[in-house]
Amino acid sequence: MPVAGSPNKKPRAPRRFPPSLAGHCLRYAVMEVLGFGRLIDPESRAAMQAGTALHKQFQQQLLGVYAMAQVEVALKDDNWGVSGRMDAVIEAPDGPWVVEYKTVSSERFNTIQQNGPMLSHWAQLQLYLAVGRMERGALVVEERATGRQLIFHTRLDPEWGAWIEARVGQVKTFQASRKLPEREVSVGCLHCDRWQRCFRTEADLAQAAAAHPEWEPVPGLPRIGAYQPAEDIVS
Ligand code: SF4
Repeated sequence: MPVAGSPNKKPRAPRRFPPSLAGHCLRYAVMEVLGFGRLIDPESRAAMQAGTALHKQFQQQLLGVYAMAQVEVALKDDNWGVSGRMDAVIEAPDGPWVVEYKTVSSERFNTIQQNGPMLSHWAQLQLYLAVGRMERGALVVEERATGRQLIFHTRLDPEWGAWIEARVGQVKTFQASRKLPEREVSVGCLHCDRWQRCFRTEADLAQAAAAHPEWEPVPGLPRIGAYQPAEDIVS
């Protein structure tokens, strides 16, 4: 009979890369696949809970409006080493559309309205398109406080597909060696729920982020390419 720690015990399969980390710091993503804990403050936890409830509501609405919609669509690819669930896929006359839904604070909503999609939202949608080998996608961003929505249509961008593939490859290499990569310091560190793994004190964190505010991943970021603001989720 196998006992704990015996040679018969099957080694646990490595965690797969979660699509939501496509546009994140490499060190953070490696911590995630290695199972490091996070320190989530009450405000972020409340926002996450509100976001989950709104997600379910949004998906129900989609199912009511689009006869050919599927929600929580599993996406798993062994070559990429990616596993996750797309919010929705809608079968349209021009082929399937991936729908990614995000809820944000009012401040973020106003920034997105002015400057276009956030990098992390964009990268996640591009990952779905690249891994799922689909051409069209819609990003729906909702302001949590009011329910106002912004919709962006886009297509698979091969430059982004290649960038994401390179980053996922780096994560897998570090995961296999069980080592953490160097920090990718930016202002994003100020909102990171694993910052204690990178800085000794909040003062160190603030100083580093002020000295190096721009995120400079390797390889360098492609430009966020063509997207169109839209009224409907699929056209
Ligand atoms: S604190 Fe900064 S460098 Fe460290 S994991 Fe978070 S985002 Fe990455």
